[in-house]
Formats: sequence, structure tokens, C-alpha cells
Amino acid sequence: MKRPRYVLAVDQGTTSTRAVLLDSKLNVRGVGQQEFTQHFPRAGLVEHDLGEIWDTTEKVIAKALKAAKAKGHDVAAIGITNQRETTGLWTNAGKPVARAIVWQDRRTSDLCAELKARGEEARVKQTTGLVLDPYFSGTKVKWLLDHVKNARAQAERGDLKFGTIDTWLVFKMTGGAVHVTDVSNASRTLLMNLETLAWDDAMLSLFDVPRAVLPRIAASSELYGLTRGLKSLPDGIPVSGIAGDQQAALFGQACFEPGESKCTYGTGAFLLMNVGTTPVRSKAGLLSTVAWKVGDTTTYALEGSAFIAGAAVQWLRDGLGLIKHASDVEALAKTVKSSGAVVFVPALAGLGAPHWRPDARGLFAGIDRSTTKGHLARAVLEGIALQIQDLAEAMKLDSGRAIPAFKVDGGAVKNDLLMQYQADVLNTNVVRPKNVESTSLGAAFLAGLAVGFWKSPEDIRRAWKADAVFKPKMGAEARAQHLGKWRDAVKRA
Ligand code: ADP
Repeated sequence: MKRPRYVLAVDQGTTSTRAVLLDSKLNVRGVGQQEFTQHFPRAGLVEHDLGEIWDTTEKVIAKALKAAKAKGHDVAAIGITNQRETTGLWTNAGKPVARAIVWQDRRTSDLCAELKARGEEARVKQTTGLVLDPYFSGTKVKWLLDHVKNARAQAERGDLKFGTIDTWLVFKMTGGAVHVTDVSNASRTLLMNLETLAWDDAMLSLFDVPRAVLPRIAASSELYGLTRGLKSLPDGIPVSGIAGDQQAALFGQACFEPGESKCTYGTGAFLLMNVGTTPVRSKAGLLSTVAWKVGDTTTYALEGSAFIAGAAVQWLRDGLGLIKHASDVEALAKTVKSSGAVVFVPALAGLGAPHWRPDARGLFAGIDRSTTKGHLARAVLEGIALQIQDLAEAMKLDSGRAIPAFKVDGGAVKNDLLMQYQADVLNTNVVRPKNVESTSLGAAFLAGLAVGFWKSPEDIRRAWKADAVFKPKMGAEARAQHLGKWRDAVKRA
């Protein structure tokens, strides 16, 4: 029999589900993508229908196979990457007891505030590497257990299963046979001990979550189970890779050495640094998280995010009407040689790490009568890069490491001006890969490694190719000036 030719990555995101078929040289051979319904029952609440998520998964797998003119038997392994923290609860028979609560949902804000007021945050941070925020799964599963009729009693009897989206997909793919999550997803729940990689009794008691609902915590690359009863694939295909989306992107960018970092520039921006095999506690309000576990080795990461990145460009387009398409921003910014005295702080939704000022607001400073829309556009791009520079600086301090490689992906990395300025203010090479589907690549690698489709991460490093390297060109004095005017503006924001 012919050896299967492809690895299938399923990227279950916040607004759409994607399936990507990759060959052993990392060429994308087929893609399927489908959006699904966002439910907003009230302000601040966001829910997803788990049944619909599974339907879209089956459909996009079929689409990707069709696009590649492939058959199910061509698939050697399946890797899953997912929107993180989104929380579901279903019966042992696989029937969701409610819609999943999405990571963006703020319904547990009061509970988090109450726990903080009781002085619980320090031990939560120490145990989990996270902060007390509704973003993470812990308070969301408590909410479901407390509010869905009979849920707590059923859970205590062992009749319910909790899971993030990875867990739901593996459960469905294996015909309900396997209840598992990987360390990267488990590290976003507030329930896992960052050092032992096991569910933590003190956290389970703090968040009132019975052990009986929890999945097994597994490595990010191992044989979890085999497909059974799918419409889109034959039985018996290994499901063998799982990682949360940001961690999968770090893996897909081949950031295997400590210090290597990747930044994803989408609506917001996510910066992750590989910090090696022991967790690094942040003094600057960054998150400490598991990157992945492959074989017996667990790799940790520091994570910082900016709420607004590409969204600032959307605001230039939709709020100010200065451009028609997001991609027009580069040409507009190039109508001026520099931003002059103009600075933009993209705190349109508050400032995250390392400032943590939810009350901060956006700001243009240094405007005079010579300021043109070109200056404004240029300052917006610079502001996006400067806030990433702040995060990178905090990471260097926390980890005591330099950043040898700063790899980028996401919708905004097509912008050469932004990437060059990022290299200039970081004073580090910024590397844009040929294949910017880092998230899918990461999930596929993890799955392929587990079944011997690729032998070692070195195969991945060899196959991984850069599209462009942006080298820092700015002199030390100019850099100091840019950082100085940025810091002044941040203070005022
Ligand atoms: P997400 O996954 O968060 O939806 P994407 O990775 O698809 O985001 O990136 C879309 C974002 O990138 C949008 O916010 C858009 O404004 C921004 N963007 C797209 N093209 C450019 C460009 N050429 N320059 C700057 N920003 C861009």
C-alpha cells in the first residue's frame, strides 16, 4: 500500500474553522474554510454552538481533501489547533449541555474581582502562571456548572465532560472514545499546575470544579486516538497533535530554541517567546504558559498581547475614512519621509502588558499645522510596532535572554514598512516566513512527528523557509529618539 502523503491540520478559530492539507515538504495542497455563527446573547457575552463547530469541521475537512484531489486514506495524521480558553461542557454521549462560552466573554468578571478582593491572585499566578481574568476557562466552567440546570450534580456523578475546543474535536473525531487535552491548552484553564502539569487540587477547589469532568492532560504530540465514524474521513486515522493557536504558531515558526520569538499581527497582536524547559515568572505582567510537550520535554513560553494592532488600521479605514483598504495604509504612510513629531498610542481598548491600564485611551501627540494624513498613517504603523517593542523589552528582562530571531505572521505582515520599522525599534532581525500559515504548520508538525511522518524538529527547521528578513537600519540615536517620544506619549495616554 502507498504511504499516506499528507498531514491534515484543523485550525478551529474564533470566527472560522479551517482545514489545511500539507505534504512532507510543507507545501499547502488543499484548504477548506468556513465561518460559523457568533452568538451574542447580551452585551459582554459571546457563545459558540459546539454542534455547529463540529459540522464546520467535517465540512472543511471534506473541502480541503477535494481541493487537494485527495482521498481520506492519503491522510497520515491529524493535528488540531484551536481558539484557546473557550469552554464547553457535554454529556458522556456527546450532547453539549449549553453553548460554549467563548474566550472573549466577560460574564465572570464579578467572580474574578471577588477572588482578587479576597487576595487569591498571588497563589493563582504562582500555580498557573496566569492572572485572574474572565478570559481563562476556570471561571467559565464554574459558571456553567452553577447555571445549567442539574449540571453540578451530573458532573459530580461523572456524567459530564469539560473541554476546550481541542478536547471537543478529539472527542468527536474518535467517536466519543477519547477525553483528552494537551498541556498547552490545559495551561490556559487556571486549573493546571504549571510545574507538575497536572490538575491542581487547590485550584479545583478555588474554582469549584469536580475532577470527574476533567480530561486527561497529554503531550502536544502523541497518539491520542483513531478516527471513528466521521463523514469526511475513514476510520483508523491517527489524531496525534494538539496545541492552542498561539503555541502552534510558535512551533510552526520553528522557534525551538530559548529566546526565539514569534509575533502574530492580526486584529490584535500576540508575542510569544520560547523560554526553555523551566517556566519564567513575569515581573511585568506577562503570562507564563506551556508552549508544548514533545516526547518527555516540556517547553515553556512567555506571552504578551496587544489588544489593538491591525485593528488600528481598520480604524483609519472605517473610523476616519483615510484609506479604502487596509493595504492602502503603506502607500499613504510612504507619502511622508518620517512621522516627524507625530506619535500614536494605539490604546483604543486600554493598554495591556506591560502597562495594564484598561482605562488608558488612544492618543495622537505632536500634531502641528504641517501634519498630513500621511504622518497620521505612518504614526499608526509605528505605534503598532512600538507597543510590540515594549512587550519584547519586558520579555527580555523577565527571561534574561536576548531575542536571536523575531519571526512574524498574521494579516498585517504583508506591510513592509511596518516590518522594517519593527526591526528598527527592536534592533533585531525580523523574519517573515514564506508560508505564513504558522498555526496550521505547527499543528501539522506536532501530529506528523508523533507518527514518524517527520523524524525530528530538525526536518521542520530545514523545510522552513524565510520570505524576507528585515534588518535594523536605524542608528542608535534615532532609535533613542523614537523610543523617547513613544514613552512620553504612553505616559500621557
Ligand atoms: P485576525 O486573524 O485577527 O482576523 P488577520 O491575521 O486576518 O486577523 O489580519 C487582519 C488584520 O490585518 C486587520 O486588522 C487589517 O487591518 C490588518 N491588515 C491587513 N493588511 C494590512 C496591511 N497591508 N498593513 C497593515 N495592516 C494590515
